[in-house]
Amino acid sequence: MARIVVIGGSLGGLFVANMLHRDGHEVQVLEKVKGSMNGRGAGIVSHDALVKSLERAGLDVQATLGVEVPGRVLLDQAGKSLIAFDMPQVLTSWSRLYQILRAALPADCYFQGVSVSRVEEQGDSVQVVSTTDGQETIWSADVVIASDGIRSNIRQQFFPQVQPQYAGYIAWRGVCDESLLSKLTQTTLFDYFGFCVPPEEQIIGYPVAGSDNNTSRGHRAYNFVWYRPAAGDALQAVLTDADGVHYPQGIPPNKVAWQQLAQVREAARRLLSPQFAEILEKTPQPFLQPIFDLVSDSLTVGRVALMGDAAFVARPHIGMGVAKASEDAVALADAIRTHGANPHALAVYAQSRLPAGRSAVQRARWLGSYVKSPDGQTPPMAQRQHQAIHETAIDLGRYGHQSGFKEDNA
Ligand SMILES: Cc1cc2nc3c(=O)[nH]c(=O)nc-3n(C[C@H](O)[C@H](O)[C@H](O)COP(=O)(O)OP(=O)(O)OC[C@H]3O[C@@H](n4cnc5c(N)ncnc54)[C@H](O)[C@@H]3O)c2cc1C
Repeated sequence: MARIVVIGGSLGGLFVANMLHRDGHEVQVLEKVKGSMNGRGAGIVSHDALVKSLERAGLDVQATLGVEVPGRVLLDQAGKSLIAFDMPQVLTSWSRLYQILRAALPADCYFQGVSVSRVEEQGDSVQVVSTTDGQETIWSADVVIASDGIRSNIRQQFFPQVQPQYAGYIAWRGVCDESLLSKLTQTTLFDYFGFCVPPEEQIIGYPVAGSDNNTSRGHRAYNFVWYRPAAGDALQAVLTDADGVHYPQGIPPNKVAWQQLAQVREAARRLLSPQFAEILEKTPQPFLQPIFDLVSDSLTVGRVALMGDAAFVARPHIGMGVAKASEDAVALADAIRTHGANPHALAVYAQSRLPAGRSAVQRARWLGSYVKSPDGQTPPMAQRQHQAIHETAIDLGRYGHQSGFKEDNA
């Protein structure tokens, strides 16, 4: 049995902690946020890989994971269906997954309000330095797994040159209660994975469980993600609250200025199908996130490994962030099971997950390329529509590539 510290108690950290705990290790998860984490995140597309990772963590929850859609629909700006086809998928949510993973881990393995500042390797162990309410604590471990997200302190400590790159666009997100929506939206959009792609814009949406994870008809909600180019003054404005405080890395949901909400709803009426415009109108508090890419060249230093968003961030178009973090967790837990909790096991993990991370980033860039094209050339509308509806958040293991994406293996 090894002592393993996991830094970050979100989905990636919880996946790996559950697997390692189940394998008999002494696991301590250190999470800097105090109190409930339930209000975080929104809809998550589930994939077979995610279900397999849950099984590896000892959890068979497929039947209660979320809402199943029968297929996809692309709406034009007038609200008419342009393309529709069958593609069954299950849509879950951040809070549902958090609830499942957190409940499976013994409470005395999970420490909140603990912020890690650095780690130091000393002989055969690693010292983890954290602060809680101004008090410093040192934790000792055989290996440390950093699942501390896109702004990872641990990545910053070892690889300061690896920084998130802004993709040139933001995503407006939100969740609207099913019961608030008109008959038109309920019958033509709500039950489907929906798309609308005006020039240089893309909105996607799908049904998720409503409050208390209720998946019954009438009690669900519709989750949307609207990608919009934003740069210069417009980007500055959208990331600034009503008191003039600027949040360059991302504005907290409750700080988004009312003027920005009014503007985005007005743009929705002008640019989107009436169904999506209605959803924007009736979502109480849309929020936004700048979209970033993050590519690491290395995932380990001695007895310390990076995983999840701390290691690679692919734009959300592939809908794989959580599945990718869960596959990192499987690779780490398997390597430790085979080789022990030592630097060799972490090197084996890195070798298998570096190519997967690069490939996810590459495919997500290609999918986002028409929202903000790196060469200024926007592909024709038909190609954009096809690319969006056939390739966004698909289960590659099940459906394979549906259109023109070619992996660059160089
Ligand atoms: C617009 C948008 C849509 C998305 N849609 C999807 C989707 O449909 N499907 C999908 O799979 N993914 C989606 N994602 C991505 C997904 O949210 C992430 O990939 C996933 O949450 C990664 O989890 P993680 O545990 O690696 O990191 P995070 O969830 O970022 O967790 C990091 C944790 O570490 C903690 N932490 C940070 N620093 C410290 C510290 N110093 N000490 C202690 N704790 C610390 C943080 O508080 C946090 O809890 C989307 C992302 C965006 C932006």
